[in-house]
Amino acid sequence: MGSIAERLAEVRERAHVSYCRVAGRPGEPRIVCVTKTQPLPRILEAIDAGATEIGENYLQEAIRKDVFALRESHGVTVRYVGRPQSNKYNAILRLFDAVDSADRRLLDHLDSIEDRGDLRACTFLLEVNAGEESQKGGLTVPEIRELAATGTPWLHEISGLMAVVPLQATMQVRTILYRSVSELFHELVSDLGSSQVTLLSMGTSDDYELAIEHGSNMIRIGTGIFGARSPSRV
Ligand SMILES: *Cc1c(COP(=O)(O)O)cnc(C)c1O
Repeated sequence: MGSIAERLAEVRERAHVSYCRVAGRPGEPRIVCVTKTQPLPRILEAIDAGATEIGENYLQEAIRKDVFALRESHGVTVRYVGRPQSNKYNAILRLFDAVDSADRRLLDHLDSIEDRGDLRACTFLLEVNAGEESQKGGLTVPEIRELAATGTPWLHEISGLMAVVPLQATMQVRTILYRSVSELFHELVSDLGSSQVTLLSMGTSDDYELAIEHGSNMIRIGTGIFGARSPSRV
């Protein structure tokens, strides 16, 4: 098992090894520590071990733990990776630095805001429902391709994609899904420009090496750093 610091070091090492196998080397993958259900002292342990970006799934939990104070005290970036609920859009946009799980409705909402003076969030990744699961949020690869072709106004808001794949998917299936999201990402880079579209967030504890080999430059790791999550939330 090992300590949080040891596990983070192992993820970093394995991510680096996978990255070294990538042709073209777009940039060393960033590691987002997904801290849902983790109490603050454990999050601080990860930060002391070098974590610079944390991801939270639930607005209320993030507020209760006051992870936002870590920005000032420890210089971390706080990313929202959960399902955005419309009654919480404004709070999410005011508190988090980035929304990695943006959907069409959140982006429509963002686009309609005239005065962004009190918004903190400035990085938005469009969530890709890569396995086309009906219960998941985000848009499928064909849906995004179609929106890109028709020129949806909020496309200029996104800095990249965050792929989610079915929990039970085999490595073979994940390979196919990551490859297709990676292709879409490169299409968006050529349509919208490489200065706008920069982030491809793919891969969690189970499959980050595979995701990096398919071009991910941001991985989202929870259990691989903190161990199994207890079912109850903090
Ligand atoms: C919880 C979560 C993760 C982390 O998953 P692990 O399997 O614990 O690494 C990554 N991405 C999202 C969107 C999550 O909700």
